[in-house]
Amino acid sequence: MGRPTLSLVIPVFNEEAVLPMLHERVQSFLASLGLPAEVVFVNDGSKDRTFEMLQELAKSDRRYKVVSFARNFGHQVAITAGLDYARGEAVVVMDADLQDPPEVVLQMVAKWREGFDVVYGRRHHRESETWFKLVTAKIFYRCFAAMVPIEVPLDTGDFRLMSRRVVVALRALKETHRFVRGMVAWIGFKQTAVLYDRAGRAAGETKYPLKKMLKFAADGITSFSILPLRASSYLGLFISFVSVVMAIWAMVAHFVYHATVPGWTASIVTTSLLAAVQLVMIGILGEYVGRIYEQVKGRPLYLVGDVLNMPRQPDNDDLDDDGDAPAAP
Ligand code: UDP
Ligand code: MG
Repeated sequence: MGRPTLSLVIPVFNEEAVLPMLHERVQSFLASLGLPAEVVFVNDGSKDRTFEMLQELAKSDRRYKVVSFARNFGHQVAITAGLDYARGEAVVVMDADLQDPPEVVLQMVAKWREGFDVVYGRRHHRESETWFKLVTAKIFYRCFAAMVPIEVPLDTGDFRLMSRRVVVALRALKETHRFVRGMVAWIGFKQTAVLYDRAGRAAGETKYPLKKMLKFAADGITSFSILPLRASSYLGLFISFVSVVMAIWAMVAHFVYHATVPGWTASIVTTSLLAAVQLVMIGILGEYVGRIYEQVKGRPLYLVGDVLNMPRQPDNDDLDDDGDAPAAP
């Protein structure tokens, strides 16, 4: 069976209210697309009738595929599974609630045809969200950008098209706590944006309560930055400086002005110095833990876009089977 040109990956969690509308919109989108396509639904442990409805869809049309989780594993993991199962030459991730309009995918496909590997949807208007969501999202993305060395485009979510080589690269990133939009930015290749107006949720309620949002934000920062681990070094250095100043002051007060009770100078000097030394040592531990963390994530060190006049795979057979260097040709 040949590959479909386009895969739509749609994570769904308790979306029975929105599925009929989604089906209708996707159906007319597929008709206007006019290319071989598949739709991969990832049922993220829904407790309502979502799975039964997806079964009906899959029965009615072979292009609809369903991966159903044993329980709720979360949005980012659902996206990951969708990307693992998607077979398309290009793959688009979109929400089930129609906040990401399928029609915009046509523009994404056009950009992909122009040679872009990642086409993300950038939110132009976002009126229908609560002010709380807008403000927290703004703050989070600004902090994130300040802490993280890679460039993650602002005002984008997970609504994006990825070429097959990006999807394959993403599969090689095996980390457990997944912040997909950051991982895609980390991968690189040619990326561009299409602007769209983000509509309100078509039906049902948000599946992202505050608790999930906080976990998401923490995953984002900790997967791409070891700055929090370093924080105690910085604090320790600052307190070292303060403690030296305090020690000088305490000694002056003792020896020059004789204005202290016995024992005060020694206690001030030792406690402040010890606090500083401890923080610096914790910071040093942080540096090592950070490096272990980076290593354990096991991300590839680099990703190759193109090679010229060379095979794609690096040279591996520098030794013969018997372990000698190969004879000169
Ligand atoms: N979702 C999921 N698992 C979860 C939470 C959400 O698969 O644990 C899906 C949900 O069905 C929807 C998408 O992720 O397709 C985005 O969720 P939602 O629209 O509720 O988030 P919001 O737009 O409110 O941030
Ligand atoms: Mg939504």
